[in-house]
Amino acid sequence: MNIRDEAVLRELNLYPLWVRRNAPAPLEQIEVQATSVAQAEVAVVQTPAELPGIVNPAAEKNAESVSRPNARSAESDWPALKQQVRDCTACKLRATCTQTVFGVGDENAEWLFVGEGPGADEDAQGEPFVGQAGKLLDNMLAAIKLKRTSRVYIANVVKCRPPNNRTPEADEIAQCLPYLQRQIELIKPKLIVALGKTAATALLGHDATLGSLRGRVHDYRGIPLIITYHPAYLLRSPAEKAKAWQDLCLAVTTHSA
Ligand code: URA
Repeated sequence: MNIRDEAVLRELNLYPLWVRRNAPAPLEQIEVQATSVAQAEVAVVQTPAELPGIVNPAAEKNAESVSRPNARSAESDWPALKQQVRDCTACKLRATCTQTVFGVGDENAEWLFVGEGPGADEDAQGEPFVGQAGKLLDNMLAAIKLKRTSRVYIANVVKCRPPNNRTPEADEIAQCLPYLQRQIELIKPKLIVALGKTAATALLGHDATLGSLRGRVHDYRGIPLIITYHPAYLLRSPAEKAKAWQDLCLAVTTHSA
């Protein structure tokens, strides 16, 4: 294991890697000591059909009914969409935030990570996930050999910071969701990872506990959707990082299927 792999796994509370010998779950086939992150990827690669808890994406009802793309954003290309977001005053969040936070990364990304909304650091810098939660997200990406500048796009459900980092309200999400939907249409990612309940609910179009949603592959308009914990939650509840690692392994498996 190289030093970088080890550092990443330490950050995720996953080092040294362990395996429960009797556990049937393929995602726990990560071997102890000798296993590098790259090897761990190989260890968990199975077809989705072989993995427990995976639903047929086509069978799942999703956010189609929730999406209310407005006519403007439904036709916009990248520059127009960015301008629309910059100019947007559709909800009350714009009045209290410093600037809109559009998204960052590769506009042809295979991987799309979706968070909830900008916090204080993101509001100041205009980029998603640049604070403490962002550092953990970068480590999560590194754990599966990704980085935010290549093959990855990072966006939020709402583009303006909610005051005091509160959860965005339903009307704010409803106003902003068409921008995310248009971003997804333009990016055409191979896989979406929803970080936390707000992103999961917005993309699925129905409410459920995060615990009940993670561990299987959902569908967002034909794109596989994996749901995992929000990095800010993982900072508060580090014991859950092992589950997030399982979710990332499922994402890798699904991406390469
Ligand atoms: N939390 C989010 O959901 N998004 C960010 O961009 C930062 C923190």
